[in-house]
Amino acid sequence: MKLLIPGPVTTRPEVRAAMAEDIAPWDNDFRPVLAEVQARLLPIAGGIPGTHAALVLQGCGHFITEAALRSYLAPIGHAKSGRILIPAIGAYADRMKRLATEAGRDVVSLALPDQVPADPAAIAAALAADPSITHVGAVYSETGTGVIHDVAALGAVVRAAGRRMIVDAVSAFGALPFDLAAQPEVDAVVFTSNKCFEGLPGLGFAIGRLDGLEANKGNAGSWSFDLHSIHEQSLRSPGSFRFTPPVQVLSAFRVALDIYEAEGGRPARHARYQANVDALYTGIQRLGLSPYVPREHQGPVVMNTHAPADPAWNLQTFVDGLKRRGFLISNFYNTPTPSFRVGCIGAITPEDMNQFVAAIDEVLNEMQVRNRSPKAVAV
Ligand SMILES: *Cc1c(COP(=O)(O)O)cnc(C)c1O
Repeated sequence: MKLLIPGPVTTRPEVRAAMAEDIAPWDNDFRPVLAEVQARLLPIAGGIPGTHAALVLQGCGHFITEAALRSYLAPIGHAKSGRILIPAIGAYADRMKRLATEAGRDVVSLALPDQVPADPAAIAAALAADPSITHVGAVYSETGTGVIHDVAALGAVVRAAGRRMIVDAVSAFGALPFDLAAQPEVDAVVFTSNKCFEGLPGLGFAIGRLDGLEANKGNAGSWSFDLHSIHEQSLRSPGSFRFTPPVQVLSAFRVALDIYEAEGGRPARHARYQANVDALYTGIQRLGLSPYVPREHQGPVVMNTHAPADPAWNLQTFVDGLKRRGFLISNFYNTPTPSFRVGCIGAITPEDMNQFVAAIDEVLNEMQVRNRSPKAVAV
């Protein structure tokens, strides 16, 4: 089965095979694995030893995003209380807002169009209008829409305004360029094991600044999600976790990193994903379906296609038909008007995408979906 969802992604057999061993996380043979993974991730983010640390938390992307929000931004009522501006550009930006709000952080939303990259001038204006905003929370690749937001350009206005930034790069990191050395305004960039690195789900990573971590020491309001505590542990006892980690996932992640580097690292991965989305976008248009995002703003991670207007259209029936042909896509809508979502990341190639497009055509014919023009009504 090819998983054409934006994560967990299709993995290589060598990655899955690396999980087939019982290991104790405190064992002296295992601890170097975490230390090695931390050392290999830091340069991929452009992290500077002594300025940034690679912090690892058990769990999913929401967990590491919440941990970064808690660890770099003091809560409402605290003497150094922060305020975070989150541009509302899609479903994942909304998730960041909810994580911050429920963690007791002061959130300001900024409504922006969702089918184009966030406008840095709009962010600059919002920051100028409200000097109490300390942070901007940005989603790099908005997995809801498939639009890539220009975090370097957004960061430049944040830096110019003397504010800080937290970047959710969960579906971008490892494929799209990112350079912490050039973006000192970024407190933390977060990602997981199971998206562009093509590992198994179970680990969240934050590459974060040590100064911001120290300045907010004790403010997390959660032991589990306290990145400062995680950092202290790695100083006190290198290569160890505070609580039981998914040890097999980490072993598999190391193999995934070997494959990543052998493929040619970030540029090669970006190029393969771009070729995947190019094949898909062209194929979708050839089938008479309508992409959700205009070609020039379509990112290489996720592509949405407007649900066809035909009354015979049914998302679950469509998903089931594709599944019988070896492809799994998301069975829910993530955009204001209904669109089906296809992930272009993972251990898949443009040839897989061409076969997938042929499968779409077969399933639509089987379902007797004849009117393929967009169904432009709210979900
Ligand atoms: C996948 C994803 C997340 C996290 O999802 P989890 O299910 O918690 O792993 C967060 N942000 C973005 C942009 C994502 O694509």
